[in-house]
Amino acid sequence: MPENRTGAFQSRSLAAQAMGRIDPVTRAVVAPLHVSTTFLRDPDNGYASGFSYARPDNATVRETEAVIAMLEGAAAGALLFGSGMAAATAVFSALEPGDHVVAPRVMYWALRRWLQHELPRRGIAVDFVAMDDLDALRAATRPGATRLVWIETPGNPLWTITDIAAVAEIAHAAGARLAVDSTAASPIHTRPLDLGADIVMHSATKILNGHSDVVAGVLAGAAPDAFWERITALRSGNGAILGPFEAYLLMRSLRTLHLRAAAQSASAADLARRFQAHPAVGSVLYPGLPDCPGHAVAARQMTDGFGFMLSIRVAAGEAAAIATAARVRLWKRATSLGGVESLIEHRASVEGADSPCPPDLLRLSVGIEAVDDLFADLDAALRAATA
Ligand code: PLP
Repeated sequence: MPENRTGAFQSRSLAAQAMGRIDPVTRAVVAPLHVSTTFLRDPDNGYASGFSYARPDNATVRETEAVIAMLEGAAAGALLFGSGMAAATAVFSALEPGDHVVAPRVMYWALRRWLQHELPRRGIAVDFVAMDDLDALRAATRPGATRLVWIETPGNPLWTITDIAAVAEIAHAAGARLAVDSTAASPIHTRPLDLGADIVMHSATKILNGHSDVVAGVLAGAAPDAFWERITALRSGNGAILGPFEAYLLMRSLRTLHLRAAAQSASAADLARRFQAHPAVGSVLYPGLPDCPGHAVAARQMTDGFGFMLSIRVAAGEAAAIATAARVRLWKRATSLGGVESLIEHRASVEGADSPCPPDLLRLSVGIEAVDDLFADLDAALRAATA
């Protein structure tokens, strides 16, 4: 067995050392990358190592999952998938025909579209509600039929905040599980399982990896129950596990997650305050701002800052927003989020007609560049675009 003396150290200490594992053969402090797809059977025909084939399981993937499970406080462990969408859709795929789902109005647009198109084909009904309206959520649940409540907090791209503990209570009272897309919070700013959620999901493509060079997704579970086992079986049966190279890169990134999240969140808060006072900006959407509607709940359930994502609404409207994105030099005009490089995107162009995203909105993913440079670059673009 590998050495793994974790004791009672803090999560940032454990993550920095990828759980402190020392390779038993070489004494290496960095775990080797396991690429073998197949494993030798024992003479008695068993697999004493626990590994037989790489589609259901891989040692590098397991080691990376252990770091994420630790960060989320997940008693059932974590499961890595080939993308965030593969992770999220595995949860819905574990439901049965006749089940009912409640999902948020403000959520990652591609998953909303998948729910709208795929769930009815599987005989699963879905209702979309404003998750900051707890009475509306209560009214939408159907006791005995609602099996899953899905939330995303902060919610992309308006960064609305959902009260995880309150929603968990409503979901559980109706006999449903609560799953949380916590991509924009990361385990540094929110631990949904501690607040009563059953499953937490991340697009690990975002800040968990943080370097815009891996597509990955992860689920972490509160309890190793039959639903979790079904998800595990689906990942194996559907061949949706993350590859070992990607898992290795992700583990490398998790070692610095605390530093990156702290720096990116501090810069996002700074930029939110500065753009709130900018003459070309109509409003700033960031849960760290005291006048944002979700701030009180965010202050209760988020720790060490409010995350790296914010949006600005350009006062002069859609054309000026698009022109602003065209003029930046340091910010990169690209989709995705959570990387060390800052990104800017006109979201309404991406999200389609049924999105709640206003046309004048620019989504900002804040990286680790000097915050004065980020402000100056976007300030110049806003002034030029709205002159
Ligand atoms: N959830 C959120 C909040 C996202 O932003 C994304 C991707 O942008 C996803 C899920 C999907 O993740 P992936 O692109 O890794 O499939």
